[in-house]
Amino acid sequence: MLLLALLLLTAVAGAFVEGRRTALESMEALFDRSSISRRNLLQRDLQNPLLVPEVLATSRAVRALLAKPHAIAAREQSEALEETALNTQVDVLYVLDSNGTCLAASNWREQDSFVGHNYKFRPYFEQAIMGRVGRYTAVGIVSFKLGYFLAHPVTVDGTIRGVVVAKISFSALQSRIRELWLQDKELNLVSDENGVVVLSPLGAFEFKAMQAIPEAARKVIESSRQYGNEIVPLAMTAGTALTQQIRFVEFRDIPERSFLQKSYSFPELGVRLYLHLPASQYWNIVTQFTAMFSLAALAIFLACVGLFQRMIYATKLVEAAIHDPLTGLHTRLYMDDWCEAAIRAHNRDPSAGFALVVLDLDLFKQVNDVHGHLAGDQVLRGVGEIIRMAIRGDDLAVRFGGEELAIFVHCADLAEGAALAERIRHSVEQTEFRSKVGKIPVSLSGGVAYHETTETLDMLFARADHKLYEAKELGRNRIRV
Ligand code: GH3
Ligand code: MG
Ligand code: MG
Repeated sequence: MLLLALLLLTAVAGAFVEGRRTALESMEALFDRSSISRRNLLQRDLQNPLLVPEVLATSRAVRALLAKPHAIAAREQSEALEETALNTQVDVLYVLDSNGTCLAASNWREQDSFVGHNYKFRPYFEQAIMGRVGRYTAVGIVSFKLGYFLAHPVTVDGTIRGVVVAKISFSALQSRIRELWLQDKELNLVSDENGVVVLSPLGAFEFKAMQAIPEAARKVIESSRQYGNEIVPLAMTAGTALTQQIRFVEFRDIPERSFLQKSYSFPELGVRLYLHLPASQYWNIVTQFTAMFSLAALAIFLACVGLFQRMIYATKLVEAAIHDPLTGLHTRLYMDDWCEAAIRAHNRDPSAGFALVVLDLDLFKQVNDVHGHLAGDQVLRGVGEIIRMAIRGDDLAVRFGGEELAIFVHCADLAEGAALAERIRHSVEQTEFRSKVGKIPVSLSGGVAYHETTETLDMLFARADHKLYEAKELGRNRIRV
């Protein structure tokens, strides 16, 4: 039973572990599915505009302007950039010379035109002028709006003469992220490569750091005024990590809610996407799974307990049916089966003969009357013990009446059976039984008959019984054969 209970506990613990595994699996699937659509979201906004600076960097007019800067050429280029920007959904397109000064810009007509401004200190310029592709998210110095900057070097006759920059707006993406948060409280955050949050449905998260930023990188960010102010860490508490990529997190700005977080890196865009799903979703799956399997285990446990109890009960029942509880001798029920087999065996094989000894305690009524019923029981138990010690394993001793006992003895002849009966009689006579009242006089009388082939049990019994009757008649405490 204890083992079963232990098994049940193990099953529940196992269900919990398995439940967590299942929940993790389904959360991972959810994360990955949503990452695909969120990635598309990012790319839809950025894919086309991303190609524009690369194409413009090879344009003849841009190269000519950089080779020989000229006010009229610059104006013409600005007009051309204005049209391209409009057609490609790029916020601002502009050309910087090798010093970082803006020669032409698509927003030349506007009040916050870039023309004439210097962007030398912007990292995207620094990267592009070194011949690499500059990628950068930053807040516009003039517009104060968040933008994604992509800069390509322009090479004229083998030397880099300037840079073409596209400033791409995140506004469509931003509003979609807000929408998702409002609709189903799905929290999507986009950070730059340093881990600074650039897109978030909550203003409180913007331009905060998801992780500690190395001092050198922080100095660059702050001195380039990438996000205007200084960078402070996002008030986020990271909890247990379920896998290398998935962990529990909590945000101070979203109280009383816990999320599972998984991040995806998009190096081609220079950003990282942080997806969050409610932790409750995970725990719901764990709870349901554990409850379901625990219930199943409990049902099996109860069925086993029932079965077990019935087995024990059945065993006890059989035991009670074949053994007399007082003397430990066999019962009449068992005797009938045993004798049937013994008679059949003797009929088949004449050497498998047996004798029947029938014993009856002498004047047992008096023993009860004088010493009490409990003392009588004590005597019966003692006689039972004497008989059990006297017989062999293949013999059978039966209590078939109150103080009437029978012994089936496998033996070659009647004399052998009689000798056993005599030994028992003698042993009982010699044994001292006592009660509170005093010594109990105990003796028994017996009749012995040897089974004859074809004889039934009743016939054999009648003969042995008759001998017992004779023994009683002759004054008791004797065996008659
Ligand atoms: P007899 O020598 O002629 O056999 O005399 P007896 O007193 O033994 O006579 P009888 O066989 O008629 O009486 C049997 C008595 O055995 C009656 C009953 O009180 C007693 N007896 C039967 N079964 C039990 C038992 O389980 N426990 C006790 N203590 N007494 C029992
Ligand atoms: Mg009797
Ligand atoms: Mg008697």
